[in-house]
Amino acid sequence: GKRLVSFTYHSEDEFGRLFRYFSDMVDQLRFSEERQSELISAIAHDFRTPLTTIKGYASYIASGRVTDLERIKKQMKKIEQKTDDLDKLLDELQDFTQQSTELKLNLSRIHVKSFAKGIIEDYLVKIKESGLTLQWKLRISNDLYIEADETKLRRVLENLLNNAIYYNKPNGSILLTCDQREGHVLFSVIDKGEGISQEDLTKIFTKFYRAEKSRNRNNGGTGLGLTICQSIVQRHGGSISVSSELGRGSSFSFTIPFFQS
Ligand code: ADP
Repeated sequence: GKRLVSFTYHSEDEFGRLFRYFSDMVDQLRFSEERQSELISAIAHDFRTPLTTIKGYASYIASGRVTDLERIKKQMKKIEQKTDDLDKLLDELQDFTQQSTELKLNLSRIHVKSFAKGIIEDYLVKIKESGLTLQWKLRISNDLYIEADETKLRRVLENLLNNAIYYNKPNGSILLTCDQREGHVLFSVIDKGEGISQEDLTKIFTKFYRAEKSRNRNNGGTGLGLTICQSIVQRHGGSISVSSELGRGSSFSFTIPFFQS
C-alpha cells in the first residue's frame, strides 16, 4: 500500500481524531488507486456537509451579530447535532475499514430469545418517540442458541431498525420477526414506510449508495449501513435480502446459520 496522505496531528479533538483516522484508513485499505480516490472523494463529500453547517453557525455566533441567548443556544444545539453526525460517520467508516482488512468475529453463544428481547426493549422508547409503533413476533424455542458475534449482530439489527424508523411514514409501524428455520435463524425488519423503487433495490447494498430521495434529505446518512449489514451477515455464513414496494414499505431479512460443532 502506498501512503497517499501523511498527517502529523497532535490534537485529540474531533478533527484530530478525524485526520488520524483518515490517514490510518488510507494505510489500511488495499484498494486500487482508482478505488481509493473514489472512496476518498465520497468520504470527503460526506464530511463536508455537516462541516459546512457547523462552520456557518460558528461564524455567525462568532461575528457577535446574534445577541439573543435563546437563539445562540439553538444554534449551538445544531452544531452539537452535526458533530454527532460526524461521529456516526467515523464509527461507520471504522467498521468499514475493519471489514476491508478482514472482519474479525468475536464469537460467543447467544440465547436468541434474550438477544431479540434486549433489542426490542432498547428500541421501544426510541420508536415511540418517533411517533411510530413496534410490533414483534418471536417464533423461536426457548432453548435456541446461535454462535455469533453479538455486537456485530446487534449492529445489523440496529442499522435495519434505524432505517425502518428513518424511512417510515408519520404514525407508521415496524414489525420485527424472528423465526427458526432448517439450519438457521431468520430475522426480518418490516416497515410500512416509503419503500424503495425497483431500480434502487438492486443498488442499496452497494457501498455509499443512497436513493435519490435520501441523498436530497441530508440526514447524515452515509449509504454504508446496508453494506456493513451485508458483510457482517455474510461473514457469519448467512445472507441478507430485501423486498420492497414504493409507497408501501420494505422488508429486510437475514439468516444466521446455527453453529455446527
Ligand atoms: P443510509 O441510510 O445511511 O443512507 P444505508 O446503506 O443504510 O445508508 O441505506 C442505503 C439506502 O437505502 C438509503 O439511503 C435509502 O435510500 C435506502 N433504504 C434503506 N433502508 C430503507 C427503508 N427501510 N425504507 C426505504 N429506503 C431504505
